[in-house]
Amino acid sequence: MTSISFAVLGSGSKGNASVLCCGPHTLLIDAGLSVKQTQLRLQNLGLSVADLDGIVLTHLDRDHFSSGWAGRLKRIPLPVYLAPGHLGAAEATGTCRKTLRLLDMEAPNRAGSIQIECINVAHDDSGCTAFIFECEGCRLGWATDIGHVPSHLLERFVNLDALAFESNYDRTMQLDSDRPEFLKERIMGGKGHLSNCESLEAVSTIARESQLQKIALLHMSQQCNHPGCVLQLWREQAIHLVDRMILTHQDHSTVMLEVKAAGHQLATG
Ligand SMILES: [Zn+2]
Repeated sequence: MTSISFAVLGSGSKGNASVLCCGPHTLLIDAGLSVKQTQLRLQNLGLSVADLDGIVLTHLDRDHFSSGWAGRLKRIPLPVYLAPGHLGAAEATGTCRKTLRLLDMEAPNRAGSIQIECINVAHDDSGCTAFIFECEGCRLGWATDIGHVPSHLLERFVNLDALAFESNYDRTMQLDSDRPEFLKERIMGGKGHLSNCESLEAVSTIARESQLQKIALLHMSQQCNHPGCVLQLWREQAIHLVDRMILTHQDHSTVMLEVKAAGHQLATG
């Protein structure tokens, strides 16, 4: 039986949003697409913005929280879950304080039937939050905009059934691009984004401690990455994981990815 299903509605520097369904509960993970685009892409999956029970934010950069959502949330309130460190940025968007729910960073949180654990990760000045969503014995790890892969993230990302993980850029394409040096440094300096190699190394480590059924690669740069580069790298270095890997897109949604509770409970018995 499927325990969790999720789809990446869109991912990249022009907007990130995903939907997570478990039992009767549906969460939006990041709201970086316009309300209209989010609705259109949800509709293609047989869902609607009206089905959402809440929004979980990794951080408040514009590609993760589109300003139109603040107005929408004033008219139709929904709980917006975020790390305490992002409260100021959320209020600056005009989002009504009453809708904001501060996540406990040290203990599991609950949004309906979905348990949410938070992990602080480095990203620019304000940081970002990685998550473990758990529901009906099924665990989904979520990490985007993480700058580098800290050991405390790898320690927590164990016994997962599925993973969504950023794979932002190909290092050669980044270095050869006509981007200004300060931007390259911002992205590659440990507080920006992960390269394909850094991402695959982390995913391979996580896969050894988990039984991953799905691995969705997030936030692929349109300018400095290419699906062909990612596929080639994975075929060369992680052929055993390729059949579980899903490339996500800026302009369209993935299909609904179904995840079953399995593996790790049996292993302990
Ligand atoms: Zn981003």
